[in-house]
Amino acid sequence: MTPALTAVCPDHPQSPSVATCSRCGRFVCAVCLRSDSPPLCPACAPRVADPLGVLAAPFSFGNMVGYGVRLLAPVWGKALVLSVLFSIPGGWISYLSAPSDDESLTQVGRSIQRSNIYDALVGNIGEVAVILLCIGVAEGRRLSLGQALRESLSRYGRLFGARFRSGVWILLFTLLFLVPGIWKAVLLAFVVPAAVRIEAMDPLKLSTLLVTPRWWAVFGRVSAVMALFLLPAVLFVGVFDFLVGFLDPPRLPVEMVEDWATRVAEYLVSACLLSGFYGLCADGKVSLEPMAWRTGQRGPMV
Ligand SMILES: [Zn+2]
Ligand SMILES: [Zn+2]
Repeated sequence: MTPALTAVCPDHPQSPSVATCSRCGRFVCAVCLRSDSPPLCPACAPRVADPLGVLAAPFSFGNMVGYGVRLLAPVWGKALVLSVLFSIPGGWISYLSAPSDDESLTQVGRSIQRSNIYDALVGNIGEVAVILLCIGVAEGRRLSLGQALRESLSRYGRLFGARFRSGVWILLFTLLFLVPGIWKAVLLAFVVPAAVRIEAMDPLKLSTLLVTPRWWAVFGRVSAVMALFLLPAVLFVGVFDFLVGFLDPPRLPVEMVEDWATRVAEYLVSACLLSGFYGLCADGKVSLEPMAWRTGQRGPMV
């Protein structure tokens, strides 16, 4: 036997090293190489692809909230900028369509309709950008604010279609009767993270597939997450509205602050729905292909 002249793999001494791990520096042979760009060893590949362990965590209320907050925490500054950015026109729309002194129900309804149309057409760009920032945190890639917005815009049609279709389905089932509407809404609870994260599958089918075997668990946990973040926002808006009522300030900034508070709560819910989606994928053994990023360098960042 001749002594090896080239570097060999520590796990397979008979195999020559084809690369060094970009994270820990060990030699890796062709069998051990887990990722080409950058090269990674079997021990480091999962740590780079899933630095927080969220992709491997099971679906539970604690994981949804815990990981949701941990996904949003490193990008909270960018999420804050997005929430302010999108609440400026949001506040304008509420202001312009605010019911006058004679608060009739139809007018309140119309104003809600107008802000819903704004969120369906424009506001969702910010929400999807936040989800993309969180996916970046979960899967080891830091996005700039511009990248997140560009990634979001490049998926605009897909997300709009997915939301529109799921909205129509939920409406149809609700018109049928309230209970089927709730049943359908829970089945489609993960349409948005599914549409952003997995492009090879129809998001409505994927959400239904993941939720069907665990409908009651999803119903309970998603309702609890929404209550946890949306109720304080509603409470804040109510108290804020009541308190500024004494000062009688111009209505526009008030509308903007209220829109902003609701938007921040929605971003928190979106982050929790994303971690819940990861949990359901982990439990359902749905393998996640590497995220199809459209901006910047290829491969995970170390
Ligand atoms: Zn390594
Ligand atoms: Zn090896």
